[in-house]
Amino acid sequence: MIVLKTAEELKKMRAAGRISQRALLKAGEAVEPGVSTLEIDSIVRKYIEEQGAAPSFLGYGGFPASACISVNNVVIHGIPSEKQILKQGDIVSIDVGAYFMGYHGDNAWTFACGDISEEAQRLLDTTKESLFEGIKAAKAGNRIGDIGYAVQSYVELRSYSVVRDFTGHGVGAKLHEDPSVANYGSQGKGAKLMPGMAIAIEPMVNAGSYRVRILRDKWTTVTADGKLSAHFEHTVAITANGPVILTDAD
Ligand code: MG
Repeated sequence: MIVLKTAEELKKMRAAGRISQRALLKAGEAVEPGVSTLEIDSIVRKYIEEQGAAPSFLGYGGFPASACISVNNVVIHGIPSEKQILKQGDIVSIDVGAYFMGYHGDNAWTFACGDISEEAQRLLDTTKESLFEGIKAAKAGNRIGDIGYAVQSYVELRSYSVVRDFTGHGVGAKLHEDPSVANYGSQGKGAKLMPGMAIAIEPMVNAGSYRVRILRDKWTTVTADGKLSAHFEHTVAITANGPVILTDAD
């Protein structure tokens, strides 16, 4: 069931989104060689709690940390660890959610650790651009498939692939609501986008095959072929005046 939000509720979601975005930016500033992913997680948790909000992911389905931190071939759901020390050239996907005034904000970004290869940079650029292609398609009257089509066609034209096994989702009082928002699809297919919907659009883009597998910890999701993967996400409201990014710090 898709839950539509009132203007008042979207205002609260924007407040939650702003905290999520600032926490993510702080995490990104901390990405540098020699830092552990657990240190970055602590920065995220501290910032969110200082705002009187709660980290959405902490304890969600048993997830043991506040941020998912996924390095290089890890697609999503990487578990922060003091043993994982970032190195020059790593790409670091950080996914952060904050729960505030009864609503969640959810966003992710892939950061470069020091200097990265040209190929890695191209993957980051393409994934980020595909997110904004998806957001452009998130207009009232369009359908969910239009978003997936926009992301997929942008990515595949550049010879990368979109992950099939995980999708974006509705966001609101619950972190994951209907509808699911796949990063692939057909124009004109799926649920109709209506003003008041809030969705997380989150392309996960692999340098090689779209296939992924989940490690024995039941969270860490890696590319099946070991190649790099990137992840960019915003929470977006569908309005009569077009898409509005709720996870926007400004
Ligand atoms: Mg999400």
